[in-house]
Amino acid sequence: MKLLVVEDEALLRHHLKTRLGESGHVISAVANAEEALYQAEQFHHDLAVIDLGLPGMGGLDLIRQLRSAGKTFPILILTARGNWQDKVEGLAAGADDYVVKPFQFEELEARLHALLRRSSGFTQASIVAGPLALDLNRKQGSLDGEALNLTAFEYRILEYLMRHHQQVVAKDRLMEQLYPDDDERDPNVIEVLVGRIRRKLEGAPGRFDGFPDGFKPIETVRGLGYLFTERCR
Ligand code: CA
Repeated sequence: MKLLVVEDEALLRHHLKTRLGESGHVISAVANAEEALYQAEQFHHDLAVIDLGLPGMGGLDLIRQLRSAGKTFPILILTARGNWQDKVEGLAAGADDYVVKPFQFEELEARLHALLRRSSGFTQASIVAGPLALDLNRKQGSLDGEALNLTAFEYRILEYLMRHHQQVVAKDRLMEQLYPDDDERDPNVIEVLVGRIRRKLEGAPGRFDGFPDGFKPIETVRGLGYLFTERCR
């Protein structure tokens, strides 16, 4: 998932970027509201973590602006201990949840995962389509109950396509899931990764009930991107 982190304290910003990156997310980390608005305008994000105490435009105004610009991704606010009014105002401005500083990283991460699950309509910690199941906590896939050997990048692409099942997902969008910087992006990499995922999912004809020709849930939509055709639940 692609997360926007807005935090003016350099050390905490660095820490958030590193830890959330290690959990498999791609992070745009910025120090102020103006940069955050620019990022949100230019790029797609799946969630934002916003510190309320920012220099210049504050976190509350940033949230209001994002919401009035039509941004619907979940927003989690970070706020200093004791500022209960901030929390209430933050939620009223359009945030979805909050974590009080200083916080345990594990708590932040658990809340982020819950928000991401809810925003994509999945309330369980797994996504299932036909014989395929993804365990969102362990970041592992299984096919007909057998563990799937997916690389970290393959897993990210598959999870993203399943979260957006029955929608065409542009290649650019998938590349954003893998590489934070434009200059590292190469559309050929996505084709190779999707090819590898398809081979891992297909199985021999007749192996999976209801899929006599093998399990082939990822369709290429010429010129547009990829479509995960099976309904996910
Ligand atoms: Ca601050």
